[in-house]
Amino acid sequence: MLARIAARAEPWDIVVIGGGAVGAGIAVDASARDLAVLLVEREDFGKGTSSRSTKLVHGGVRYLEQGNISLVMEALKERGLLLRNAPHIVHDLPFVVPNYSWWEAPFYGIGMKVYDLLAGKYNFGKSRILSLAETLERLPTIQREGLRGGVLYHDGQFDDTRLLIHLLATAADHGATLVNYTEAVDFVRDAGGFITGVVLAEREAQRTYTVRAKVVVNATGIFTDETRRLAEPGAQAMVTPSQGIHLVLDRAFLRGDNAIMVPRTSDGRVLFAIPWHDRTLVGTTDTSIERHSYEPLPLEEEIEFVLETAREYLSRPPTRADVLSIYVGIRPLVSVPGGGEGKTAALSRGHTIHVDNSGLVSIVGGKWTTYRRMAEDCVDHAITLGALAETPCVTADLKIHGYHPDAASLGALGVYGSDAEGIRAIARERAEFAALLHPDLPYIAAEIVWSVRHEMSRTLDDALARRTRALLLNARASVAIAPHVAALMAAELGRDAAWIAREVATFTALAQQYTLGPCETAAPVDNADL
Ligand SMILES: Cc1cc2nc3c(=O)[nH]c(=O)nc-3n(C[C@H](O)[C@H](O)[C@H](O)COP(=O)(O)OP(=O)(O)OC[C@H]3O[C@@H](n4cnc5c(N)ncnc54)[C@H](O)[C@@H]3O)c2cc1C
Repeated sequence: MLARIAARAEPWDIVVIGGGAVGAGIAVDASARDLAVLLVEREDFGKGTSSRSTKLVHGGVRYLEQGNISLVMEALKERGLLLRNAPHIVHDLPFVVPNYSWWEAPFYGIGMKVYDLLAGKYNFGKSRILSLAETLERLPTIQREGLRGGVLYHDGQFDDTRLLIHLLATAADHGATLVNYTEAVDFVRDAGGFITGVVLAEREAQRTYTVRAKVVVNATGIFTDETRRLAEPGAQAMVTPSQGIHLVLDRAFLRGDNAIMVPRTSDGRVLFAIPWHDRTLVGTTDTSIERHSYEPLPLEEEIEFVLETAREYLSRPPTRADVLSIYVGIRPLVSVPGGGEGKTAALSRGHTIHVDNSGLVSIVGGKWTTYRRMAEDCVDHAITLGALAETPCVTADLKIHGYHPDAASLGALGVYGSDAEGIRAIARERAEFAALLHPDLPYIAAEIVWSVRHEMSRTLDDALARRTRALLLNARASVAIAPHVAALMAAELGRDAAWIAREVATFTALAQQYTLGPCETAAPVDNADL
């Protein structure tokens, strides 16, 4: 990919800055329209917000409560398209709203009927009011005291970084050039101040590239304003950061295949308890914060809020000691739709596209579920702005990399879809590759090797937080396997023992933030294989 960047003398049609959901969606859309696309990501793909979601492909029941019908309809349509195009990653998840007051069943029952109606032909399944016995059958670990029944509805669930990697692979399949650990550090302009290119700093080889571009898209999420200020130092802020945390608990806290949705907790927030990769995810919060960073820390009051609220609804009350992992994300909310000078098109209440006077196109807001629609809007704008070849968007019907109609038949590798066969082939290379990495984690060594060979996994954090989800499923277990995984990666990447030691130390320090207590330092690395 880097060689392609170095070799290209003519301008790219679109250079996308940012390798999260939005940037990846744009790369897919533009490359599928046969445009020449380069996407650059400063850290790893998904290192920002896109790896830290609640893992729901949803219309957003809370927006319905706020009366934001068009946003809900748009998201419900996208939910349906995503299930059709990536059935190996997205699946239907039944949710139950538990009812403890007499008014809740009719109130949420009607609300969910409206939700069904808005989904139209993209409906996942009919909502209905559940009796007390049916509620207990679906949620055997729900708090029984005062429970009257529940309301059942359906939404979608996914693995956010698996979808992200498969979106990037889809773009690559269509000829896009994509690199991680490559930062946009400056812009090139013409005499009139209009952006005509981007200066890139590649971290591993410490090389700088200057690329030409007809259109540059800023899809940097919570970093949108920083990127805009590279072009216009005085640009007014567009983004307000808002933090959310999730706690990961053992599956025993939420038995059965249903999720719990509490639309209004004691202090008016929304709380989810969701089965995910054989764990229970509980979250999220919505806390406005001043600063943003890649590894934001949970606030003590957020942890207490999630634990306390979970205790109200779960018959086995979770404590801090039960937390297998805690992860924190920051939502890029649009604060000033105008965003200063220039032209802003508020295409829906969910996302905003802003074109600075320098020609830089910034896209911000929305949510994971609506990434495809955001990308379509953005590429339509880019085509006009850059006078690019007019071609219609094709992503509504585009199968996403790994597409497999019956992923359940692939067992533990189902989320890889058609790539599962490639991983199995690696597992057959050596007995060691077929072995589980840890009894408490659902991953075999071949998945790490695959991620290095085919998915640009460069660090332990890439392999354990985003190609597999080991860090999120069990932070301590991920630290325990760090030396082994680093040795596997080093063998593939041609790295030495010093690299392994550095990676293990860096990852162990990072994983500390994902636990609520100290993390044991991993055992010294056995690098006999090197
Ligand atoms: C707690 C939480 C829960 C959520 N749950 C859901 C959910 O269940 N369902 C849903 O639909 N949505 C959910 N969302 C929303 C969704 O996760 C976000 O809307 C989406 O991930 C934002 O993607 P993005 O591409 O805009 O940003 P990001 O994923 O942050 O990507 C931006 C990227 O730009 C890169 N970058 C920055 N500067 C540069 C530079 N100079 N050069 C190169 N690269 C650069 C960053 O490294 C980063 O990777 C949730 C959000 C949060 C915070």
